Amino acid sequence: MDFASLGLIDPLLRAVAEQGYTTPSPIQAQAIPAVLEGRDAMAAAQTGTGKTAGFTLPLLQRLSEGTPAPARQVRALVLTPTRELAAQVAESVALYGKYLPAMRSAVVFGGVKINPQIDKLSRGVDVLVATPGRLLDLYQQKAVRFDNLEILVLDEADRMLDMGFIHDIRRILKVLPQKRQTLMFSATFSNEIRGLAKTLVNDPVQIDVSPRNSTAERVRQWAVSVDKSHKAALLTHLIDDEQWFQVLVFTRTKHGANRLAKQLESAGIQAAAIHGNKSQGARTRALAGFKNGDVRALVATDIAARGLDIDQLPQVVNFDLPNVAEDYVHRIGRTGRAGASGQAVSLVSGEDRKLLKDIERLIKKPLERKEVTGFDASKAAPEPADDRPPRPPQRPRGGGGGRPGGNKPGGGRRSGGGQRSGGGGRPAGNGSGRPNQGGRARRSGGGNRGA
Ligand code: AMP
Repeated sequence: MDFASLGLIDPLLRAVAEQGYTTPSPIQAQAIPAVLEGRDAMAAAQTGTGKTAGFTLPLLQRLSEGTPAPARQVRALVLTPTRELAAQVAESVALYGKYLPAMRSAVVFGGVKINPQIDKLSRGVDVLVATPGRLLDLYQQKAVRFDNLEILVLDEADRMLDMGFIHDIRRILKVLPQKRQTLMFSATFSNEIRGLAKTLVNDPVQIDVSPRNSTAERVRQWAVSVDKSHKAALLTHLIDDEQWFQVLVFTRTKHGANRLAKQLESAGIQAAAIHGNKSQGARTRALAGFKNGDVRALVATDIAARGLDIDQLPQVVNFDLPNVAEDYVHRIGRTGRAGASGQAVSLVSGEDRKLLKDIERLIKKPLERKEVTGFDASKAAPEPADDRPPRPPQRPRGGGGGRPGGNKPGGGRRSGGGQRSGGGGRPAGNGSGRPNQGGRARRSGGGNRGA
């Protein structure tokens, strides 16, 4: 199947071809014809499935058939939970719409000056991508009106609810015309989401390309049991040893993200933190650095990371396990995208064990356990028996086994874990960031390594 057979017009087909896409992804194959027909849609799809093109292409085509937006009016509104996602969706709208020169689009979100946004809206825009809070501000300032709204898209609706946007969304819905086309995308479909959907969509086409709450098949997932105070040192060790060059690391708190980024930096690993307290400029710089390879480790909280569009991210680390098991599925959704394979590693200390059990219950399988020589928390403090999920057989230690990723090409470059107590054979650093073989840490931050 190709894009032309979905009924897309030539200017869109040209833009798609320029991106190098030849075959529609499953969500595109299902969503595009339905949206072109004017149907409402409710789609369960994670980031990485091609959902953005799935709604943007038919939306642009429908708008191209009507008349341009008058002053301060908007014809299609895409609501997203985060500024990053808003910026990325707006980029896609501009990209796919590049051969529809009459089409005007804009993006608005908080954290930046409002006046340029008011200016842009004053001329009217066909497609507006927005985060809910800023959109309401603009509406209250009478900078935008929705009398001509034809299409509403809720992107990552589950995350919008998680982030507490439900009241803003309801206030926005009140001022939109009843007669419109509505498309709703969500990685997961909780009862709350289904409840919201009932009030929003009308006889929707239901599209489900990711089985509910399942993690991407292509992502290799494993967990390491480690003392909390040794997590930073273990992460430094893994990044060096596994030669991870682009790793997205999740922490539970903003403070934890800042602290870890500093620890990695002082260990010689270029790192940046990204979270809600950072200015938009700092977030954009961190993301750009991460994409171009200047930043090797991007440390993020769940909310900040949501919606980051990073192609083929190979590596995700759960430095802290998420409090809510579903967030694990979102985090893993960062890897193994658009055909690439990925790896997701969870660092599990005593306080994470219950969270790990919740995750394993949700994804309906135990995570593979690995040992990293010198970091095995279970040697120091055995797990309570009833907290221990089934363990797959461990490879023998000391022969290069026990090393995560030991089966990847080049994994045999060292003769064994035993020689590593002084850090020999490691690409960088002197090993002082690691605890002793007995499990006692000399330091936890790896602070003097590689500086
Ligand atoms: P999304 O799920 O919308 O975030 O898209 C994930 C990534 O897949 C984006 O980087 C797109 O550029 C890419 N993509 C979207 N559609 C296709 C396609 N049909 N073929 C190949 N890549 C695609």
